[in-house]
Amino acid sequence: MSAPTAATTAMPQRALRHTPDELTFVTLDAAGEIAYFHSASQHKAGAHNVTALDLDTLDTFCFCRGAEFGHTCWHQVHVAAAWRKVAYRVRCARMDRPTLEAHGHSLAK
Ligand SMILES: [Zn+2]
Repeated sequence: MSAPTAATTAMPQRALRHTPDELTFVTLDAAGEIAYFHSASQHKAGAHNVTALDLDTLDTFCFCRGAEFGHTCWHQVHVAAAWRKVAYRVRCARMDRPTLEAHGHSLAK
């Protein structure tokens, strides 16, 4: 696996053929600053691409074949939207019980 490549700003045409739903949330790093997703590789059966999103800077990184060759891949285009779909659930899952209960009570008011 080569070093990750940061995304550029241009949206590649191939990104229009994909959606954020194709990226599956895997985990956050220990500090809760990097969200990791995977998606099925189109080049290697049974393999997954790993895409990361820095939640502070919104920088994206991908270990897919396209990114390896310096292209902005569809994974990087859609990873922030994929995060927005799971962020609330993931953050609640990381809360300890008292914090989660307090959050639940604040929503019930
Ligand atoms: Zn990619």
